Amino acid sequence: MAKKENRFTNYGIDTQAVHAGTDYDEGTGAVRRPLHMANSYKLPDDLSKVNYSSTDLLMYARNGNANQHWLEEKIAALHGADDAIVLASGVGALHALFWTLLKSGDRVVYPKVSYMAVYRMFHELFNVKFGVDTVMVDMTDLEAVKRAVTPGTQLVHIETPDNPTVGVTDIAAIAKIAHENGAILSVDNTFASPLNQRPLDLGADFVVEALTKFINGHGDAQGGAIISNNLETMERIRYEAQVNVGSVISPFNAWQIFRGSVTFPLRMRQINESTQRVAEWLEQRKNVTFVSYPGLPSNPGHALAKKQMKNGYGGVISFGLDTDDKTVERFCAALKVVTFAVSLGHDESLIFPQPSYDERIALYPEKFRKGFIRFSVGLEDVEDIIADLDQGLRAVGL
Ligand SMILES: *Cc1c(COP(=O)(O)O)cnc(C)c1O
Repeated sequence: MAKKENRFTNYGIDTQAVHAGTDYDEGTGAVRRPLHMANSYKLPDDLSKVNYSSTDLLMYARNGNANQHWLEEKIAALHGADDAIVLASGVGALHALFWTLLKSGDRVVYPKVSYMAVYRMFHELFNVKFGVDTVMVDMTDLEAVKRAVTPGTQLVHIETPDNPTVGVTDIAAIAKIAHENGAILSVDNTFASPLNQRPLDLGADFVVEALTKFINGHGDAQGGAIISNNLETMERIRYEAQVNVGSVISPFNAWQIFRGSVTFPLRMRQINESTQRVAEWLEQRKNVTFVSYPGLPSNPGHALAKKQMKNGYGGVISFGLDTDDKTVERFCAALKVVTFAVSLGHDESLIFPQPSYDERIALYPEKFRKGFIRFSVGLEDVEDIIADLDQGLRAVGL
């Protein structure tokens, strides 16, 4: 497939969020492109040139659908990239990338702190099922990364800020280490979003975004994207992982994410600002044992985040309470404005405890092992969010 069309290359990110991937509807002149809930498309009269595993010709929804393609144009534009592939979920996108790049005997270096499914894929699936050499490393320790990334390493995967500790990893430094050893670098950019961080500009080869989170932003659709300038490998991902494994996005979800993403930069700026305020408030609240947010000058990742992020530091904070798992649950359940649920990056604030019995807890820095909570700040009035956290803490005697 050719480079994505982007008529708005030289425009700002707000203009791209509004205009990239859309146009007048050809059939009616409507100012919105339609939702095409079709599995199949009319075949050309001459079938001799049709490749049934290709993704350029609209033919069958698993090979690609119109709403997916329009969303891909916009996601590529938001990252200033040549191409994007939109799939059914963030994990679907991560899997498609790993499945295409790795084969038995290859070595992958992955982070000690990462999204749960990445941990599962490399800790117990790709290694056991396919004989991939999977090496876990603390990505905030560049000396450890240098030791782990040996010549012949195929892939280095990082996440920054990471889920759930909100730690910061140096994208440019790790890109250098990876490239010196002939490895590819992929970056999960979900926590930062393209408003705050564009890893391709810092040397990454592939970026993954869980569109489910900030880019859609309304908690009502699931999707994921792989973004890159490496058109040849992107073509392989479409062939190996989309058409022949099948984690395709439905046209309806692609349409919904397209609509949600129009306001993405606007929402994200507000979320950056509110999250900074909430983090500062938490930091001075009694019975809060730590606050992890790159926007706080006290954060060990602050200087690095300032260098590699722009506009703000994202919408997720992790923090600790000086109490046990049960009281943390009671605190979350006592909140009235903030929603007690998994996920992040929605319009509403979301809170999710990370219990001390989680099997990964020993992989996190010491302070995260007690009373640890992940908090995604939403679009409610920031004063209401802060007042709600305060009343919730008081309700459980903190
Ligand atoms: C949510 C999330 C994902 C996975 O996205 P899904 O759409 O839930 O599959 C991947 N990475 C990070 C950092 C996430 O927060």
